[in-house]
Amino acid sequence: MYFLMTNDVESFSIPLNRLGPDTAREVYEVGLPRLLDVYAKTDIRCTFYFTGKMVEMVPEAVELVLDHGHEIGCHGYDHSPDRAFDLMDLDEQIRELKRAKDVTEGVSGRIYDFRAPPLRINEYTIRALEETRFTTDSSIA
Ligand SMILES: [Zn+2]
Repeated sequence: MYFLMTNDVESFSIPLNRLGPDTAREVYEVGLPRLLDVYAKTDIRCTFYFTGKMVEMVPEAVELVLDHGHEIGCHGYDHSPDRAFDLMDLDEQIRELKRAKDVTEGVSGRIYDFRAPPLRINEYTIRALEETRFTTDSSIA
């Protein structure tokens, strides 16, 4: 049996729940290793979509995911609702994608996959993804 498994790795909800940077670090140091252990025991390979902000906060998380044989994808730079892609024109989307891609590829190497934060895109997104050389988009289920 085959199925697809993905994970979004973002810090967006931490301040909303009145938690701080220590919580983000705990997610990386405790939660992520537990999740990776479950995937290893069940022989599941996934794509982990990181926001650029999360990569900047804990680049070690990207390395840990890669060390476990999973794929890295891009979940935009900023997951805030006011930075959603459906609110941006083409040039803004291209800038946002380049920023996120540069940050992430600086740790992971070349990435190809994108998922819009928070799953919101508009008529410019496909063109912006082509301009920034992403080849897959899992923003729409
Ligand atoms: Zn997300």
